[in-house]
Amino acid sequence: MKHQLLRSALMVSYLVLITSVFSFRALAQQKNGQEIQFSTTSYKEVLAAAKASHKKVFVDAFATWCAPCKELQQRTFKDPEAAAYFNKHFVNFSVDVEKNEGVELARTWQVDGLPALLILDENGRVLANHTGFVDGKGLIEFAGEAAGNTRSNRSHPASIRGHEHNPWYSNTDTTKLHVSNAAWKKVLSPDLYAVAREKDTERPFSGRYWKSTTRGTYYCAVCGNLLFRSDAKFASSCGWPSFYEPSRANAVHYQADDSFGTHRIEVLCGRCDSHLGHIFDDGPPPTHKRFCMNSVSLDFAPDKK
Ligand code: FE
Repeated sequence: MKHQLLRSALMVSYLVLITSVFSFRALAQQKNGQEIQFSTTSYKEVLAAAKASHKKVFVDAFATWCAPCKELQQRTFKDPEAAAYFNKHFVNFSVDVEKNEGVELARTWQVDGLPALLILDENGRVLANHTGFVDGKGLIEFAGEAAGNTRSNRSHPASIRGHEHNPWYSNTDTTKLHVSNAAWKKVLSPDLYAVAREKDTERPFSGRYWKSTTRGTYYCAVCGNLLFRSDAKFASSCGWPSFYEPSRANAVHYQADDSFGTHRIEVLCGRCDSHLGHIFDDGPPPTHKRFCMNSVSLDFAPDKK
């Protein structure tokens, strides 16, 4: 009887131990899935690991002073979808191009801008490269291009073309931004900075979009946030692009503007707080609102035919 009890107790302890080990492993895997896991070993060992596992190598070549490199590490590499994809399909290698073997590797890979993202085969041959910030979705797209083993050299995915030096620009990331005007000034054109960050107004009938009727989508020119669909655009005689409603409720936000001795409601981007224009009550149905926007604050992507 005593032996039986002892045996049962041992069995229960064993089961508890096994369950704990599996739970711990599941937890660790879940945690690992939340960001891209970079190898901390040497480049030689990375290639050996790639050979052994028949995987390609994903390289993040960075420098400590590079702000977009930090954005990649803090945002893109922590994108759960990108993390799951890269942890599954690649041996990931992060290297400082100004330190140790990174200096020579950057030369070999002909890195001419940062951050440099590379896909290598197991022999270290460059299959694809990309320079500049990219969001999680863009990173997966980029890696997908390399899957065919054809060498590609994309400066940037379509979503951020024209915004190569703006690490915060994304048409998909809706995370609220808190960026100083000093930082914005470094990446925006003077015209856009004056309107978006200093609340200037472009001259009426001067912008690109006031009379455009092309079907498509309007994004914030500062941060890429989705703002309006062309379906909500209407012909207005005011000389600025006008819409009767934003694409979604939190695409924009509002604040009182009592400048120039008049009371108006200012419209700001819901993601980056940039000035877009004003809202008035003389729009068409169904909302009877007129979102009177500055063209320079908008980026337009026509619908694909
Ligand atoms: Fe914005």
